[in-house]
Amino acid sequence: MQDNKIGTLYVVATPIGNLQDMTMRAVSVLKMVDKIAAEDTRHAAPLLKHFSIDKPTLSLHEFNERERLAIIIDLLEEGESVALISDAGTPLISDPGFHVVREAKARGLPVTPIPGSCALIAALSVAGLPTDRFTFEGFLPPKTEARKNRLTQLLHENRTLIFYEAPHRLLSALQSMAEVFGPERKAVVARELTKIHESVLSDELSGLINYYEAHPHQQKGEIVILVQGIDEEQSESKEVIPEQVLDILLEELPVKQAAALASKITGERKNVLYEMALAKKGK
Ligand code: SAM
Repeated sequence: MQDNKIGTLYVVATPIGNLQDMTMRAVSVLKMVDKIAAEDTRHAAPLLKHFSIDKPTLSLHEFNERERLAIIIDLLEEGESVALISDAGTPLISDPGFHVVREAKARGLPVTPIPGSCALIAALSVAGLPTDRFTFEGFLPPKTEARKNRLTQLLHENRTLIFYEAPHRLLSALQSMAEVFGPERKAVVARELTKIHESVLSDELSGLINYYEAHPHQQKGEIVILVQGIDEEQSESKEVIPEQVLDILLEELPVKQAAALASKITGERKNVLYEMALAKKGK
């Protein structure tokens, strides 16, 4: 170690299921750094062994990131280089690392990406949905009411929507999407990408629901859901949308809350929506 030398933080993507997707640069950087910060050191061990990478590791996960941050920043400031890896794919993408990267950058420390696999990009590249503009929404809230509220906020979205989802919530997520976006909205379920049971299924939301209801064993594994954005033309017809939004929210929320949220989402006046909601509820 030399004086005045500062270390680089490398943000290194690893495969999302197929070891052959490890990049040569990822291997050489992991072999070159002083330490590897891994989301789960036990999970990282077989990957590192496979590529004959023998470096000290430290864990950096959701629950210790803020505490480990100080250790990693100290290492970098002392001139050691550190690689950040997650259990799969690109760190920071629905994975830990954000706080470390933000702090390193705030201190002027060099941060370098070593790009590679990322499930959302892999899914988008084969979905057959528009790729020129898209929005990544991460994981939806697990509870139905919160999930539908989040989806309702995306009702006007004309970019392709991308979600990560747990297998046991695939059907309920698709059902909430059909209720909010309409059963005819086009969507794609990309499952187990790069693995033996890879499948990419495109259909209307209602078709996907029917398929997964009929094939429960296909609900297993790792899943990305992509939904086509709303048509530009539809998104401009503002007269109908406040009422649609209100109808959806009234299924889950009391009148006052539904009107307030629908007003926030659509820009329609709250009292107009409140009156409309009361009429719908026959009050
Ligand atoms: N950092 C990862 C990335 O770059 O994609 C994502 C990590 S996040 C904790 C895990 C989620 O990513 C899974 O629940 C699933 O939604 C998605 N995912 C990861 N690997 C996948 C694969 N092979 N096929 C489909 N989806 C995958």
